[in-house]
Amino acid sequence: MSLLPRPSGSGRGFVLRAWPTGETSVVVAVLVDGVGLLRLLAKGAREQHSQLRPLVQPGRLADLEFSLDPARELQYLRGGTVLLDPLAVSPTLERSVYLLAALEIIDCCRPGHGHETGLFTLCEAYVEVLSCADPGREAALYYAFEIALLELLGVRPELEICTHCGARRAQAADGVAWLSPAAGGLVCGGCVDAGVEGGGAAVTRRLTPADLAAWPELAAAPRIWPVQPLAREAARNWGVMLHRFLEYHLPGYRLPASLALLRGQPR
Ligand SMILES: [Zn+2]
Repeated sequence: MSLLPRPSGSGRGFVLRAWPTGETSVVVAVLVDGVGLLRLLAKGAREQHSQLRPLVQPGRLADLEFSLDPARELQYLRGGTVLLDPLAVSPTLERSVYLLAALEIIDCCRPGHGHETGLFTLCEAYVEVLSCADPGREAALYYAFEIALLELLGVRPELEICTHCGARRAQAADGVAWLSPAAGGLVCGGCVDAGVEGGGAAVTRRLTPADLAAWPELAAAPRIWPVQPLAREAARNWGVMLHRFLEYHLPGYRLPASLALLRGQPR
């Protein structure tokens, strides 16, 4: 038997995803403050009285203890304490879905390269605000999270001026502008008509003045989170636009599967 100390780590972590393995165990993907993304094996966590059981629910923030053996890709979850369960009090379908969708994006994008701390801070702020949000605000909070994530990764959409000619969007005669993931933001009507690069087929969505009016509030997170629910049309437009933007700029991104749960729901 070895008397060498086992390499170990600890820290606050968000459970991003959990899937069963073996007869009673669970593997979790967690985002740990200051460490980054880890895959942890929680042995026996599906057993009724396992102390690990409360720690492996997606969305929960917990103080975690785990192995940190550089020779292993999958570490062991050894114990911990739940600090926040965002679905503990009157969870709604919207709250669950927009929580899981944000966790899915973080998990599938796997941003490294020094973004771990910023990502944890953003995730923490989002989960805290979502866990006590009034019904109706969830979509606006989720889009604000997506914009803040894009900003963190250095690809925040440019919404103030035309990315091609620099014209202020307010100068457009009818107030309409276009969002182009390829151009990194707005392309004004004049530039779209002139067929500039980033216009044409790459332009994914027409922004109405009502859509543009929602931008300052959506883009203020994580300093200030949206307080107003989005109108139905604007919510639909921002949902599509941000999805296209993430698809273009984030390798590994795909539309979160949990969003499908909202399809067909009255809004
Ligand atoms: Zn222009």
